[in-house]
Amino acid sequence: MERAAAYQRGCGVDVEVLDAAEVRRRVPWIAGERLAGGTFGARDGFIDPGRLCGFFSSAAAHDGVSFRYGQEVVAAEEGAGGFVLGTADGSTFSAPFVVNAAGAWSARLGALLGVDVPVEPVRRHLFLTGPVRDLPPEVPMTIDADTGVLVRREGERVLVAWSNADEPPGFDTTCDPEFVLRFAEALEARFPSVAAAGIDQRRSWAGLYEVTPDHHAILGPVPERPGLLLATGFSGHGVMHAPAAGRCIAEMILRGRSEGVDVDALSLARFARGELIHETMVL
Ligand SMILES: Cc1cc2nc3c(=O)[nH]c(=O)nc-3n(C[C@H](O)[C@H](O)[C@H](O)COP(=O)(O)OP(=O)(O)OC[C@H]3O[C@@H](n4cnc5c(N)ncnc54)[C@H](O)[C@@H]3O)c2cc1C
Repeated sequence: MERAAAYQRGCGVDVEVLDAAEVRRRVPWIAGERLAGGTFGARDGFIDPGRLCGFFSSAAAHDGVSFRYGQEVVAAEEGAGGFVLGTADGSTFSAPFVVNAAGAWSARLGALLGVDVPVEPVRRHLFLTGPVRDLPPEVPMTIDADTGVLVRREGERVLVAWSNADEPPGFDTTCDPEFVLRFAEALEARFPSVAAAGIDQRRSWAGLYEVTPDHHAILGPVPERPGLLLATGFSGHGVMHAPAAGRCIAEMILRGRSEGVDVDALSLARFARGELIHETMVL
């Protein structure tokens, strides 16, 4: 974490490295003996993804982008001038560039285009507690790095999450009420006042992560398929990465390469080359 913090600071991110005493001072509801320290970014951990999406789409519309909602691409052909995509309602669209940004469904869209996109849908649960009385109004997003249990304030409740490494791939988004039992002990040990508020199953839900073999995005052109690009496989970090990913892809289309950030390590080719990125903290 110290290495990551040093790198982040080098990129201009405001992140602090805290010793154990400072972690306990700032997050006094943390329990348990074993605590080495932590890192803290005051601007991290909270975002409204719907509003972020709305912000980008209205800015793009203002600049002349048009959106077609509810149009599932069900067919794709490659021609001399680019691609022709067919949608479920029988419309066709042609374009010199196509970006497969279909999230958890990217492998299906890739198959239509004849490209193997190594992205699998994996269910991810989010739980909300009942109203919490014993915690301050500000509960930063706090991750127990040992177990992967994370908590943060969400209005009068606390949001709780944990990802199990053995969740099988699939499109099931049923919220399994038993799932919480798998990390209840870890939650109680580290965040007892959160556990005491109990889980409100009616407000809890599950969605899909779009997971690659190394839990990192695939960003960039498909080799030997001019005009076809991938912006997918964010593996549960896609909201955070969205602004940078969008810029990289726009630069690749307009200028032939990502100028602002070197994203070669995120190429599709890394899987064939066996150059997977080693991720130390999968959330
Ligand atoms: C429970 C949960 C918690 C998360 N928490 C965080 C977090 O704290 N921070 C964070 O950064 N990220 C988080 N994520 C991950 C984040 O939501 C995703 O990484 C992000 O939404 C991916 O964005 P995307 O645009 O690549 O894909 P999506 O948002 O999935 O968009 C893909 C779009 O493609 C459309 N599509 C698919 N197939 C077709 C087709 N054939 N034709 C036309 N359209 C198609 C889909 O309908 C969809 O609208 C979380 C995800 C879940 C499920």
